[in-house]
Amino acid sequence: MADSIVIENATIFDSTGKEAYGPGTLVIEGDRIKSVGPSSQVSAPRGATVIDGTGRTILPGLIDAHAHVALTDWDFSGDPDRNHPGAVYAYSVARIIEDTLMHGFTTVRDAGGCDWSFKLAVERGLIPGPRMFVANAFISQTGGHGDMRQRHDRSDPCARWHPLMPPPAIADGVPQVRQAAREQLRTGADQIKVMAGGGAASPTDPLDAPQYTVEELSAIVYEATVVRKPVMAHVYVPEGIKNCVEAGVRSIEHGNFLDEESAYLMKENDMYLVPTLSVYELKSKHTVEGGTLQSTIDKINLAKGRAPQSVEIASAVGVNVASGSDVYGPDANKKALELELKAAIMGADKAIISATRTNSNLVGMGNEIGTLEEGKLADIIVVEGNPLDDIAILQDEQKIQVIIQGGKIVKNING
Ligand code: ZN
Ligand code: ZN
Repeated sequence: MADSIVIENATIFDSTGKEAYGPGTLVIEGDRIKSVGPSSQVSAPRGATVIDGTGRTILPGLIDAHAHVALTDWDFSGDPDRNHPGAVYAYSVARIIEDTLMHGFTTVRDAGGCDWSFKLAVERGLIPGPRMFVANAFISQTGGHGDMRQRHDRSDPCARWHPLMPPPAIADGVPQVRQAAREQLRTGADQIKVMAGGGAASPTDPLDAPQYTVEELSAIVYEATVVRKPVMAHVYVPEGIKNCVEAGVRSIEHGNFLDEESAYLMKENDMYLVPTLSVYELKSKHTVEGGTLQSTIDKINLAKGRAPQSVEIASAVGVNVASGSDVYGPDANKKALELELKAAIMGADKAIISATRTNSNLVGMGNEIGTLEEGKLADIIVVEGNPLDDIAILQDEQKIQVIIQGGKIVKNING
């Protein structure tokens, strides 16, 4: 008989839309959830490993749909070999990947910069980590959000990129973007990441302008779609969002200037909005003295001011609202801040659902993870206290006491 684990007497929030209840019991057999329900109705199999859920809440494992686990620093300008020697870089990424899991994120979708080989290291058991969906390099037009050269810089756009990091694919025109997409797919991308509009961290582009033509975006989507992979697009403004809708992109990343018209178009096409409230919250504290360009600070504040409204519009229209943090570098462990900021707009229950059930659908694993239901893979976290009463506890690594991934206990702090 497969190994069994029982978590008893816990509050259960299953992310199906049902209210939290308790005391509840969840039984895992092998890698799957065997049964889950009120403790009076679910019995523990003999010989099972028993975990006491008293004072604790069971949730589906969290999913971050916009992570950058391989961006170990805010700034990758400068000499990569001196600032980030190969082994130091690889171990730094490994640490971020492991910490991400230990903070309760059992799945991440990387939004660019993480090479496929880090996912392989997790799958081979070399490092503990979440299930990973990687994009490899992001695809950007010249002078777009992936082009990090300053105005005076006429060097190769990839020259300063770290050797272990897939350099941004700077591509213009249909033949080049087609090749860039094929290259990401060849090297193991689970999804394609394209910059379809300006951004804050890039030095020469306005944030509130679209990038790439519909023709270019469509070529990228075509290449991904024929091998059944989705495209995620970084973009802020309605004009750029509409280009993505027309091209067949699956998710809009950030989307801060979403308006009703573009929201309805997204809904009609069953697309996902991945707001990333955390990154603006954290980066708005950066200063010129700390090395950030004034133009970048201005762009962050522009995006931050409009972020909550886009979530409200998307929710009101009925767009799938997913959850991504976009945090990286020194803030890599603040991924759960996204749930607190989201909860302030849509409530704690919906914030958790967006980071579990909705995100599971976005990554194409809605039948396997994202809710606590019989037959699903046992990706589960057990939290001290109740995040529906205080969502901020999800940011406390010590309160994420038990983590089970595919039926395996990867963390167990006896509270
Ligand atoms: Zn972005
Ligand atoms: Zn990002």
